[in-house]
Parts: sequence; structure tokens; C-alpha cells
Amino acid sequence: MQQFIDSYDFTGKKAIVRVDFNVPLDENFNITDDTRIRRAMPTLKKILEKGGAVIIMSHLGRPKKVDPKFSLSHIVDHVSECLGVPVQFAADCQKADEQAAALKPGEALLLENLRFYAEEEGKPRGLAEDASEEEKKAAKKAVKESQKAFVKKLASYADCYVNDAFGTAHRAHGSTALIAEYFPNDKMFGYLMEGEIKAIDNVLKNAQRPLTAIIGGSKVSSKLAVLKNLVGKVDNLIIGGGMGYTFIKALGGHIGMSLHEDDLMPDALEILNTAKEKGVNVSLSVATVCGQAFDNDTPRQIFDIYNIPDDWEGMDASPASLENWRKIILASKTILWNGPVGVFELPNFAKGTLQIAQDLADATAQGAYTLVGGGDSVAAVTQMGYADKVSYVSTGGGAMLEAIEGKVLPGIAAIQD
Ligand code: AMP
Repeated sequence: MQQFIDSYDFTGKKAIVRVDFNVPLDENFNITDDTRIRRAMPTLKKILEKGGAVIIMSHLGRPKKVDPKFSLSHIVDHVSECLGVPVQFAADCQKADEQAAALKPGEALLLENLRFYAEEEGKPRGLAEDASEEEKKAAKKAVKESQKAFVKKLASYADCYVNDAFGTAHRAHGSTALIAEYFPNDKMFGYLMEGEIKAIDNVLKNAQRPLTAIIGGSKVSSKLAVLKNLVGKVDNLIIGGGMGYTFIKALGGHIGMSLHEDDLMPDALEILNTAKEKGVNVSLSVATVCGQAFDNDTPRQIFDIYNIPDDWEGMDASPASLENWRKIILASKTILWNGPVGVFELPNFAKGTLQIAQDLADATAQGAYTLVGGGDSVAAVTQMGYADKVSYVSTGGGAMLEAIEGKVLPGIAAIQD
């Protein structure tokens, strides 16, 4: 049975908490962005306040073996500072029995990187490149077998399990999903996960209408499943950024050197047809700010999106497109934004994306629910200073994308089952 952090009695209990402390480090192992650590603090602090102790577990990077470069020992001082208590460190996540047993209420222990063990991901490591199918199968079976013991050991340290790692909720890993079965009556989401799940539900399950999705970014191929799922759910679908040119070309437009994927033109047409059948309003760009090279200082000119000259490429949304989109956004009650509508990394082509951020901020101020999620649009709103002017900014790139695709995330299902 699923529990809730606010109502669960943590008094005298040890909680094993999966967080996402996969933070970027510089060459001297200084944390360059501690957002993920800070976002987990409300959950950890709450458990300590309620008389519990926390055993914190996370991955860092993608080590394929024990590798000091990816040690969580680099962040333990900063975690202590954020949490306000000295955090102890267990140098091997599978040998923390004594340290876990000795923890008293109000104390915290951080386990070493879970991915030092292949069992966390449940994928075999060190297979020879020319391994036969049979060898691969046997290695997979072996790691799945030893994964059970790995997970059981982690579970043995604690009385309850809290998952607050939305960034890995789309992975069926030991610490994100499998461990939950050891806590049938003592498993729950942390506040960050609760917030993410509520945000997804606000858009996909309980949306106030009209519901609008703005999907941008570079390629149709990376968001095909997103587009296919959303076209059956939204009232308005705004398609911008690099992916828009595949749609325009499929409709017979001349797009010059703009980014496009010929093999996805049939999918683009199918999405437009489905939208028509379902009465969904699709809004593509009408004109586009073009450049002659993928460079900030390249000459700029606006062209009709159906008639871009051969030696120009579309790099940002034009004022005419943005005006259309602003009207749609301001008339909506729920808005989901995923993907920039131009090459926002180049300041001369960031205006469109900045305008969308402003439109979302205005819609939010008017009472709309706005969710920014999945990858580069999050970086855009954060860099542009709009993160606190929208209703919710997701912390999970891949996880949010999969949620918007309509998939059930293993990390969520393991708690809700
Ligand atoms: P995604 O990760 O799919 O959300 O894509 C984000 C990337 O799309 C960013 O790096 C943008 O620079 C890029 N992008 C957006 N619009 C365009 C465009 N018109 N041409 C090329 N790349 C674009």
C-alpha cells in the first residue's frame, strides 16, 4: 500500500531514500550546479524533522566499474551543508550494514554510487565484443540473479522506502523500482516525485481546457511518440523549432537548408491527418528567421516558411508566427511546453524561445497551468530567468518525455501498485 510522506510516522524509523544527485562536477570535483541536491532537500529534511534517519542513495554519471571519478564522496560535504547535519558516508553501498544499524533519529548516511555495481541497472558488463548471443543471454541471466541480492541488501538497511528521483523514474533499476517490493506497506514518493506526478496529471489527466502543447526542438524523430500521444489529447498543438520544417516539407513547402528528416514526412502527415480527424488545431510556423550558416553572426532574414531560398536555413520563429502562437497560448487554460522554437543557444536566434517563455509567464499570471518539461526548454526557461514565472518546471528530461509519450514509468508504478 502506498504511503504519503506527510502522513507517514517516521519516528525511530530508518528511511532509504533514492534521490537524483547526479550533479555536474568540474575537473576539481566542485559541483557546478547543485539544483538536483537542493530539490531533494524538502523530503530529506522532513524525514529528519519527523524523527527518522535517512539513508540516501543515488547514482552519479555512468561508471562501468568502481571509479573514484564518479564517487559520491565528492559531494558529501555539500550535502551536509544543504541538509544542516553532518552526513556520514558509506564507501561501498553493499557494505553499509553497521553504519546503517548505528544511525540514530536525525542522522544521515550517504551510500557510495549505486552504479559502481552492474546490478543497479541489471545490465551485464565487460562482455567481449564478439560475445555470442548465448553468452550475452547467460550474462544477462547472471546479473538479473545477482541483482536480487543487491536490492535485498539495500532494503535490509531500512524500515521504509522513499523514491524522490524523478530523473530516473523511467528506468526499472534496482533502487528506482525493484526495491519497492521489500516495503509493501512502507513505500512512498518524496515531495519532488509527488510534484512531478501532479504536474503530469494536471496536463494529461485533469487538464482545464483549452489544453495546448508547444512542441519544439530539433527533430521529429526524437519526439514522434510525444506528438502521436498528444495529438489525441490536446485542443491546440503548436509545432515549432527545427522539427517544424519536416512538416512544412511534407506539405510541399520549399525549406532551403533547414533541418529536416525526409523519412519522417509520412509520420508528419499522419499526425496532421489525425489532428484533422480529432478536430485538433495544429499551428505551424508561417514565416521564419533564417540564417546562411549555423552561426550567431550569420546574416539574418525572414522568409515565408513555404519559400525559403536554397542557401538559407530556418533558425528561429518569426514575429508573425509568434503572434499567432501568443493568441493561442493566452486563450489556453493548460499549457505544456517541450523544446525550444529556435536555436536558442545562439543569442541572435533566441528571440522566439524567449517570447514563448514570456507568453507562458503571462498565461500563468492570468491563471493558466503551465508545465515546462523534458530537455532543452527547461534549460531555456531557467537561463532566461522564467523558471519561477511558470507553474512547474520538470527536473526529469527523459522521464518527463516518456511520461508525455503516455508511458507508465517503472519508478512510479512500483510505488503506486
Ligand atoms: P530537443 O533536444 O529535441 O528539445 O532539441 C533542442 C535543440 O533544438 C536545441 O539545441 C536547439 O538549438 C535546436 N533547434 C531548435 N530550432 C532549431 C532549428 N530551427 N534548426 C536547428 N536546430 C534547432
